[in-house]
Amino acid sequence: MPEETDVVVVGGGVAGLITARELGRKGLRVTVLEARDRLGGRVWTDHRLGRDLEIGGTWLHWVQPHAWAEVNRYGLEVTRGPRPEEAYWLAGDEVRTGTLDGFMELIDPGMRRLLEGTMHHIPRPDKPLSNPELASVDGFSVQDKLDELDLPVEEYRANEAAWVGHFNAPLGDGAFTSALRWTAATTGSWHLMHEASAVFRLASGTKSLVEAIVADTDAEIRTSTEVSRIEHDTDGAVVTTTGGERISARRVVLTLPQNLLGDLDVSPGLCAEKKAATAEGTASKGVKVWIRVRGPIKPFFAYSSASHPLSVVRTEFLGDDDAVLVSFGADASRISPHDRDAVAEALRVWRDDLEVLEVTGHDWMADPHSRETWLMQKPNQLTRYFAAQQRAEGVLHFAGSDYANVWAGFIDGAIESGHRVARDITTTLT
Ligand SMILES: Cc1cc2nc3c(=O)[nH]c(=O)nc-3n(C[C@H](O)[C@H](O)[C@H](O)COP(=O)(O)OP(=O)(O)OC[C@H]3O[C@@H](n4cnc5c(N)ncnc54)[C@H](O)[C@@H]3O)c2cc1C
Repeated sequence: MPEETDVVVVGGGVAGLITARELGRKGLRVTVLEARDRLGGRVWTDHRLGRDLEIGGTWLHWVQPHAWAEVNRYGLEVTRGPRPEEAYWLAGDEVRTGTLDGFMELIDPGMRRLLEGTMHHIPRPDKPLSNPELASVDGFSVQDKLDELDLPVEEYRANEAAWVGHFNAPLGDGAFTSALRWTAATTGSWHLMHEASAVFRLASGTKSLVEAIVADTDAEIRTSTEVSRIEHDTDGAVVTTTGGERISARRVVLTLPQNLLGDLDVSPGLCAEKKAATAEGTASKGVKVWIRVRGPIKPFFAYSSASHPLSVVRTEFLGDDDAVLVSFGADASRISPHDRDAVAEALRVWRDDLEVLEVTGHDWMADPHSRETWLMQKPNQLTRYFAAQQRAEGVLHFAGSDYANVWAGFIDGAIESGHRVARDITTTLT
C-alpha cells in the first residue's frame, strides 16, 4: 500500500517550499520530494573562489512584492555589489571606456523606443494576457524589434548586449513580449526594470531564504528523491519515485521548469499546450560564470555584443588582492564556466590587463533537473501556452516561476506561484 498524505509537492525549489509552507499553515499534511541532494533548485549559494557565490538566482528588489515580503518576514539583510567606477563597451572593433551612467545614456534612446508600447501591450502585468490583441506582437523576437529601430551601430550593439544580459539567450530566440513583461512589472520604466533584475542581493545568500522557509514549515521534506511517475484520477494521485517509493495524495503540485515538465510520466497525460511548451523549450540557454581575477582592480561593468561568448561582466566582490566578477553569455554551448583559458580569452575583448586566477559556475542547461536558466519565452509561447501552463489538471496543480504572472523567471515569481497554488488547493481541501 502506498503511504498517504494530503499533498505531494514535486520539487524543493523556492516555489515548492513556499507552496509547502502555505499548505502546512492551513493544517494540511505535505510531503516535498526533491530530486537533488540539496534544496533551493535554481537558487544555490555555494562557497567557491573564497566567497559565498550565487550559482543561480541572485538579485531581488523592493518592487518585487513577493520576494520583498519574504525579506521582511525573515528579517533578511539586503546588500549590493560595489558601484562600478568604470564601464567598457564596444563600438565595432574599438573598446569605449566611460562610466556606467554614460553607457546607460547610450542605450536610453533604443530602450525607450523599443519599450514605448509596454503598458499598451501589457496593461496589467499581473494579468499578462489581458490585452486581447497581444498575439499581434507575440510572434516577434526581441531581435526583430531591435532591428526595426535601425539604431546607429554603437547604440545597437550596446542595446543588444544589455538584452542578452536580461534574456540569457540569443535574441532571435527570445520573445519581444518577455521584454515587455519585465518592463510592465516596473510600470514601463526600463531603468527600474534594469535595477530590479541586477543589483541587490541577500547578504547571507539565497540559502538563508531557503533555510528560513524550511525552518518555518512542518512539511516532510525528502531530498535525493526523484519523481518518475504520477497516476491521477478525480479522487487523488499516486506518485512514484525512481527509488520505487509510492505515495498517495489528494493533490499533487508540480514545480518542474518548463523544459522538464512534459518529460515526466504522467497518466493520464498532461494537456497538449504544456507538452508543446516543453517540446519547444524556453529561449534561455545561457551561462553565468564567476571569475576571480588578481587585484586590486577598480570595480567595473562591461558590455560587448550578442555575438561574443560573454556579453556582460561586472565586479561583484572586491578584495585587497583579488576581485570576483560575474559574467553572462547567451549560449552555454559556446563557453564552459569551468574553462579558465576560454573565459580569460573572452574577457580580452574589453581588456587585456586582467589576470584570471580561477573560474566557476554550473551548466544549468546540462543539469537534468533544470535544463534552463531563468524563464524567457520564445515568440508566441505567452499567447499560445501560458494560460494552459498555469491551469490545474484534475488533482494536479502547477507552481513555479516559469508560470508566474508578474515576475515570471524570477525568485519573486516562484513565490507568487506558490501562493497561488496553495490558495487554489486550500479552497477545495480545507
Ligand atoms: C544562472 C541563473 C541566474 C538567475 N538569476 C536570477 C536573479 O538574479 N534574480 C531572480 O529573481 N531570479 C534569477 N534566476 C531565476 C530563479 O532562480 C528561478 O526563476 C527560481 O529560483 C525558480 O524557482 P522554482 O521553484 O520555480 O524552480 P526550480 O528552482 O527549478 O525548482 C524546481 C525543483 O524541482 C526539482 N526537480 C526537477 N525534476 C524533479 C523530479 N523529477 N522529481 C523531484 N524533483 C524534481 C529540481 O531539482 C528543483 O529543485 C536565475 C536562475 C539561474 C539559473
